Amino acid sequence: MSVAVVDVERCVGCGLCVDLCPYEGAVAVKEWKSNVNETICRGCGVCVGICPSLALNVKYLTNRQILARVRVLLKTTRDYEVFEPKILIFICDWLSRKGANLSDVSKVQRSSNVRATKFPCVGAIDPTLIFDAFINGADGVLVAGCGVKDCDYIDGNVKTESRIKHAKMCLKDVGVEPERLAFKLIPLSTARVEFIESLREIIETVKNLGPNPIKR
Ligand code: SF4
Ligand code: SF4
Repeated sequence: MSVAVVDVERCVGCGLCVDLCPYEGAVAVKEWKSNVNETICRGCGVCVGICPSLALNVKYLTNRQILARVRVLLKTTRDYEVFEPKILIFICDWLSRKGANLSDVSKVQRSSNVRATKFPCVGAIDPTLIFDAFINGADGVLVAGCGVKDCDYIDGNVKTESRIKHAKMCLKDVGVEPERLAFKLIPLSTARVEFIESLREIIETVKNLGPNPIKR
């Protein structure tokens, strides 16, 4: 079963994981160390996305594994004579299972450099994964989660919003246009169409901005 796992050496006992966890009693801090109750924890990863010490991971899908996967995905992209934006889609697994269809990606114009990786919930996305994607050559990132009322983990999706806003500010501070990072919560009822629309939008935006300035 998928649950959160704490690295007690890293945990500083800040309690953010307790504040943000959508499930009461799934995680608690005792003697300055976080402790996960595996019978309550649903493995949504919201605590992983918020932990400032990188002390949490979802079992079987650690941030280290995601990092490695994203870097490999970016290596499979190509530099074409006419700019084809390298776009990474960070998508909620439930959205891709219940609505958005990743196999539709190839039908979108200029999508040959689009790659996707799944998360249990967009709430599990640590901003460092987004920054790492840009450092490793992404021209844009689309974070796609389920609509506001459709989250399988109560409100894990909306808890991501402020984190993305902050990530955009950080990108701006280092000279990367914040528009390169898009965040969409897509209702499941219209997911197939809206997901593709969101992808078209980010491809168009990034195409107009040109290559990621970090690369220059
Ligand atoms: S958010 Fe991270 S550092 Fe803070 S208590 Fe939870 S596991 Fe420990
Ligand atoms: S936020 Fe999700 S993964 Fe973390 S302890 Fe709570 S239920 Fe488990």
